[in-house]
Amino acid sequence: MIRRRQPIRRSSKSIQRRSGRPKRKARIKRPKALSRRWLENVADRVFSLFIRSRRRCEKRCGRELEVTELQASHGIGRAYKATRYDEKNVMASCPQEHQAFTWRPYEFRDYLVEKWGQAEFDRLWAKAQEGVRLGYAPDYIDLIRRYWSREEVQGALFESSERVQKNLTRDVEKALKSVALGADES
Ligand SMILES: [Zn+2]
Repeated sequence: MIRRRQPIRRSSKSIQRRSGRPKRKARIKRPKALSRRWLENVADRVFSLFIRSRRRCEKRCGRELEVTELQASHGIGRAYKATRYDEKNVMASCPQEHQAFTWRPYEFRDYLVEKWGQAEFDRLWAKAQEGVRLGYAPDYIDLIRRYWSREEVQGALFESSERVQKNLTRDVEKALKSVALGADES
């Protein structure tokens, strides 16, 4: 038996990969607190709770699902700010249909016409485009305040994970406090 005179040195350093440099962790860039993008994200999360509080998939399957099983799905895409928080344009959806339609935008458009009727589709599409033309920007803080106070939103929040409850409550409070301090938008 070979005996070592000295024990093998161990360090807490990670082992160098053979294939060159160690991988750098992909860093997710978070928008700065209270920036326009940050407020939009908070407004999205609050509005999503409102949509998901409908507790059933509003697409073809129509299944009754838990708040946490549903996703908020935009008919006319989120890029169009004027319809981003439109209660008709945003549907509660099961993840399966959300994904299937995301990959089939032309079928989705046909589906929306079938679901809403041509006149209603045209109205929302016009609203979306008008927003682009006018450079419409949602008042995120107002949106957050209005939806946060809705009973449906608080109910849906209550059914969400503890982490979601904690983080969203913290961010909403930060957003609403910023108005009180006069630090609105950036
Ligand atoms: Zn569905």
